Amino acid sequence: MINTKKIWMNGEMIDHDNANVHVLSHVMHYGTSFFEGIRAYKTEEGTAIFRLDEHIDRLYNSCKIYRTEIPYTKEEIKKAISDTIKINGIKTAYIRPLVYRGYNSLGVNPSNCPVETMIATWEWGAYLGEEALTQGVDVCVSSWRRLAPNTMPTAAKAGGNYLSSQLIKVEALENGYDEGIALDYSGNVSEGSGENLFVISNGKIYSPQSGSSALIGITRDSVITIARDLGYEVVEETISRESLYTADELFFSGTAAEITPIASVDKIKIGIGKRGPITEKIQEAFFEMTEGKNIKYNSWLTYIK
Ligand code: PMP
Repeated sequence: MINTKKIWMNGEMIDHDNANVHVLSHVMHYGTSFFEGIRAYKTEEGTAIFRLDEHIDRLYNSCKIYRTEIPYTKEEIKKAISDTIKINGIKTAYIRPLVYRGYNSLGVNPSNCPVETMIATWEWGAYLGEEALTQGVDVCVSSWRRLAPNTMPTAAKAGGNYLSSQLIKVEALENGYDEGIALDYSGNVSEGSGENLFVISNGKIYSPQSGSSALIGITRDSVITIARDLGYEVVEETISRESLYTADELFFSGTAAEITPIASVDKIKIGIGKRGPITEKIQEAFFEMTEGKNIKYNSWLTYIK
């Protein structure tokens, strides 16, 4: 169970045990939800939420794609997030705002069902394990492809999309891997089940371009900025499956996964088989930034007052 006391639900702080939805809610039957995963970090000046504006913009865009109007302003949602962290008395947080279609009728058309909103916050450590941040994770190329662009929009962070993620993740775990990498509809590299991917070869950093059916990750965008500021060339382009095997370093990026190195793909050792030197530099700069220790990126942090 998730350890949190109060959950913000439709404008009110509700006790964890009472934050329930009806079984006939539209979201239960058709995956009608849009959400974000955001982290807040402990800094010397208190808790700071990482790239809050970008996450909130993506939440509103996910809803817009599905013609869903959130009945709150962005400012109200941002305040509710801060309030939820504060009321739970936590110093670091994983933040989960979720907009979903509630209970009215059960036709496929969601438009008669109320748009409901919840925000939960809790302390959540390294998503793929603390050790993975240095030792890396063992991954496979999934037999499941990512959604093709003319099927479901991958730019929307929608609950239903995560059935695809679950197929990738569960298959990987069943076969003894930590995570799976999915190819896109054309057979090129897309992303992990909940992470974007970076490939390092001959000192250059590559990431699949936006047409690869991957979510446009906010951590990915931060990594690209940080890597360029460190002097690396970053190229967004089509990445073939085999270039994973021959890479010098690979790593995942994501709000939950942060910067997680990849040690092997399909049992083929990548580089030195653990966190490589360029990944280490980027990871270091990333955590320095989230801890508020690099003023260059201070505009990415929203301090909770
Ligand atoms: N891809 C998928 C499928 C994800 O679920 C996530 C996590 N939100 C990411 C990539 C990484 O995105 P972000 O850096 O914005 O968390």
